[in-house]
Amino acid sequence: MSTAQLSKTQKIFDLLSEVMDPEIPVINVVEMGIVKDISLEDGVSVSITPTYSGCPAMNIIATDIKTKLQDNGHTEVKIIEVLSPAWTTDLMTDEARAKLEAYGIASPNRSSVNNSDPVGTPKECPNCKSANTKLKSHFGSTPCKALYVCVDCLEPFDYFKCH
Ligand SMILES: [Zn+2]
Repeated sequence: MSTAQLSKTQKIFDLLSEVMDPEIPVINVVEMGIVKDISLEDGVSVSITPTYSGCPAMNIIATDIKTKLQDNGHTEVKIIEVLSPAWTTDLMTDEARAKLEAYGIASPNRSSVNNSDPVGTPKECPNCKSANTKLKSHFGSTPCKALYVCVDCLEPFDYFKCH
């Protein structure tokens, strides 16, 4: 790839860094690991991978990416959904995890930590950092989160499930 093309790709990544995850408005789609690939043949093609199958946010994300690029002069935008390899929470950057915690959502454990419990459990309460937490509901504010409550500070919080 030529230098000119590389910087063009970088500019598109920069634009996509301004597109936020609709369910977690502090994390952009690049940090989430949703954007897989960008191709500049035939306009712009963006390959995205759903965070989990049937995630209702994916349509919103595809539309937001399209709108962002079109608003910035890229008229030919194609969104390609890549289903394999599947997205896992391991693709989230450390920066994204830190932002998630700061937003009050416990970040997913690395899936390799405990294979017998694929969804994992939050390692600590995002509010007081206590490890003493209890599952309240398998589904939190969205299907990809579970609702926990901290036994120490009694604060309920969302846990971004591992998958
Ligand atoms: Zn707590």
